[in-house]
Amino acid sequence: MASDIADSGTVQMPAAFARTSLPGRIIFSDGAVGLLAGELDQRELRRVMLIVASHDARLAERGSDVLGERVQLRWDEVRQHVPLELAQRATDAATAAGIDVLVAIGGGSTTGLGKAISVATGLPLAVVPTTYAGSEMTPIYGLTSDNDKKTARDMRALPSIVVYDPQLLITLPAAVIGPSGLNALAHCAEALWAANADPITDALALDGAGRIHQHLVTAYSTEDPAARGHVLIAACLAGIALGTVGTSLHHALCHLLGGMFDTPHAETHAIMLPYAVSYLQPAVPAAARRLAQAMDADERALPGSIWSLGQSVGTPAGLRSIGILEDQIPAITQAALTRKLPSPRPLEYAALHDALRAAWAGQPPG
Ligand code: NAD
Repeated sequence: MASDIADSGTVQMPAAFARTSLPGRIIFSDGAVGLLAGELDQRELRRVMLIVASHDARLAERGSDVLGERVQLRWDEVRQHVPLELAQRATDAATAAGIDVLVAIGGGSTTGLGKAISVATGLPLAVVPTTYAGSEMTPIYGLTSDNDKKTARDMRALPSIVVYDPQLLITLPAAVIGPSGLNALAHCAEALWAANADPITDALALDGAGRIHQHLVTAYSTEDPAARGHVLIAACLAGIALGTVGTSLHHALCHLLGGMFDTPHAETHAIMLPYAVSYLQPAVPAAARRLAQAMDADERALPGSIWSLGQSVGTPAGLRSIGILEDQIPAITQAALTRKLPSPRPLEYAALHDALRAAWAGQPPG
């Protein structure tokens, strides 16, 4: 790679790094949810709390079928960003029922509730993810109270078993697939320029970005389980990479918007990503170059390529379409500066305001 060659023409030593790899068992196969009961039995985990959102009735039915009488408690109240009060009630129910393992089947919201209960009780958590949130691969969990979402890292939040089954994504609506896939791409991108990125997380993030580039449009526009499966692998890789190295400006901005205005998680990521990349690219040219290569894009046109991918998978038309008003842009910009959001490029009011204004309008990044 060009960035490994010094001006003198000699090959540079790779940058030093130290890392702790995240533990946990991962199973991926078409129909893999059928293996879940055996995995629990091997660990002598017999009293299950099954967490599936009430609106995901088919997932609940499938979960009940495969787990049978192991299910001691069904919990179907799931909300995005895990309200603290909800997590406390679910935790109390788990304790009262004397369960010994949590099984969460669903998107990032369902996984998030499982993580919160796992942290509070110390119970092991098995997750069957059915979106591309990638939360199942990170030790990060969040709780919301008083319109403020607080996130933390805790190894008890990391699932001990993750079962990926592309068949379960057949029912996933295209309107979820597109933004959720862009959410996974955002994990890949930021993992490349997070402060402690290393060659292993780079490899995961680049493979993830390449699969999203290759398969997301097909996963969005058809029910092809193979395409949906490749994007699921990408979401897994993205989650491991980001869960290992942490986040940067793009995630911090999305988090800020979610906290201030309760914007929908995946859609916020999908809208913001091209503009965040455009803002950061001058500060992380080598990482952006590799991301462009993985996505078969021209380096200078990377933000535009990400924007175009978003357009072809139904990204909403700018922050204005998810409830943000134009006259709120100055307050958002100021909040980013006041809170000193982490960023490899220093936060400059005018440039950041322009990036947020462009994201509000939803036009191609400049
Ligand atoms: P979500 O879990 O709310 O799911 C989105 C929608 O998809 C829901 O309406 C759900 O019912 C539906 N759905 C899910 N699976 C389905 C299926 N198989 N068939 C039909 N419909 C299905 O949204 P999300 O984007 O997956 O997750 C968002 C949440 O995850 C946020 O709270 C976010 O903060 C959190 N998250 C956390 C991390 C982390 O590392 N901690 C990473 C990413 C996201």
